[in-house]
Order: sequence, then C-alpha cells, then structure tokens
Amino acid sequence: MKKAHCTAIVLAAGSGKRMNSATAKQYIVLEGKPIIWYSLQAVEQSAVIEDCILVASPDDITYVQEEIVNKYGFRKVKAVIGGGKERYDSVHNGLQAVKELLPTSKYVFIHDGARPFLTEKILLDTYRAVVEHNACVAAVPVKDTIKISDEDGFIAQTPNRNMVWAVQTPQVFERTLITRSYEKLIAEIEELQKQGVAVTDDTFVAQRYEEVPVKLVESSYENIKITTPEDLKIAAGFLQK
Ligand code: C5P
Repeated sequence: MKKAHCTAIVLAAGSGKRMNSATAKQYIVLEGKPIIWYSLQAVEQSAVIEDCILVASPDDITYVQEEIVNKYGFRKVKAVIGGGKERYDSVHNGLQAVKELLPTSKYVFIHDGARPFLTEKILLDTYRAVVEHNACVAAVPVKDTIKISDEDGFIAQTPNRNMVWAVQTPQVFERTLITRSYEKLIAEIEELQKQGVAVTDDTFVAQRYEEVPVKLVESSYENIKITTPEDLKIAAGFLQK
C-alpha cells in the first residue's frame, strides 16, 4: 500500500512556567543543542514524516526560523507559525496551517517540542496504528498505583493499575477528523471553560467531537516531557548512555 502523506505539528509555544527558568524550556540547551532540536531532528530523519509545521510563540518566530530551522537546516519545516495562549490554541493554529499550506496531508502527528526522545520506532508504530484506526496515541502503562482524589484531597477511587496508561505525544489522527474536532472545540471553548473542563490533550478533543476509538500504542518510558528542573537531569542521563 502506498505510503500516505504525513505531517508533524511540533508545539513549542509554551512558556514553561513549571521550569522556573528565564529561557522557555524548549530552548534550554541540553548536550549542546536546544531541547526542540531533538524532536525536529527525529522528524527530519524520519521515513514516516514528509513535512512539518513548527508552532512557536508569536514573539519568537524570527528567532526560531533563523536560530533553529535555518541554522540546523531542518528542511522538512515548511512554516514557523504563531501559537496561542493555551496548548489547544497552538494545536488549532497548527492544524489550520496544515489545511492551508499542506492540503494533501492525510495524517497529522501532533508532538510536544518538550519531548526530545521521539524515535523512529514510535513514529512507525503510531503510523501503522493511525492507518488502521484513524486515531492513536503514544502511551506507556503506569508504574505507580494511581489514585483519583476528591475535592478535599482524600482518595476517592483506585483505578485498576492494569488499565491505566500515561499518554504522551505524538498523538496521531486522520487530518480532517482532528481539524474538524478542533474547529468545534474552538467554537465552544468559552462554554467549556465556564464548566471547568480542562483540555490538555488531543485525544480528548477527538473523542469529544467525533466519538472515534483511540488506539493506545505502547511507546517508551524515555519519551518524557521536560516539565520541571529535575527532568533536565533525567534527560541528560538518557543522552549520556
Ligand atoms: O505546558 P505543557 O508542558 O503541557 O506543554 C506541552 C507542549 O505544548 C510544549 O511543547 C509546549 O511548548 C506546547 N505549548 C504550546 N502552546 C501553549 C502551551 C504549550 O505550543 N500555549
């Protein structure tokens, strides 16, 4: 079967408040390269991904275009575009850019630029799953027992650990399905905010508006998101292997 056109949307428009750093976390240098370099390099070298939209803070677009895309020669990055206030705004902007600039794209791989350990195996496994199921997400079974709390901080529920997964990125979808879902989300986002609904991942959006079953694709425990300062030490450890 002919390989379908796949586009990565790499998200780098967050401010990284939990990092307590003056530099946004995706630009912190790790073993000589900014964190965002690692996932862009995985995309650049991938046989799965044809092209890429990079989403950055509007104020950083020139910096990212010159100091990252041009400097390191990431030829698959077709545009650096501005993100929004929340992650879902940035994803929506990325999807609209794909619709406009790369209309033949069949599948989109939405990836956090703060996850440097994206591998070709993860891209290939999620590609196979999205071709079969239209929606999938890289994920790992949790190692800890997870508790759901009540509003007062007491344990309310203990889900069966065998059924609990931590989802990562890439989150991968048939492009028109996820684009439609995000258009519907943006149209009703104020209402959702009033209801206190937190939108922190893409599978939630797909399932809310399209009722599509989303396949969990077992990924790697190394595919961490750099969020807090200790994650930098863990990442440095992975790179020194
Ligand atoms: O904040 P969090 O760690 O969940 O962010 C995950 C990814 O989404 C990061 O790569 C971050 O740069 C990106 N993001 C974004 N636009 C925002 C917020 C986060 O592109 N408004």
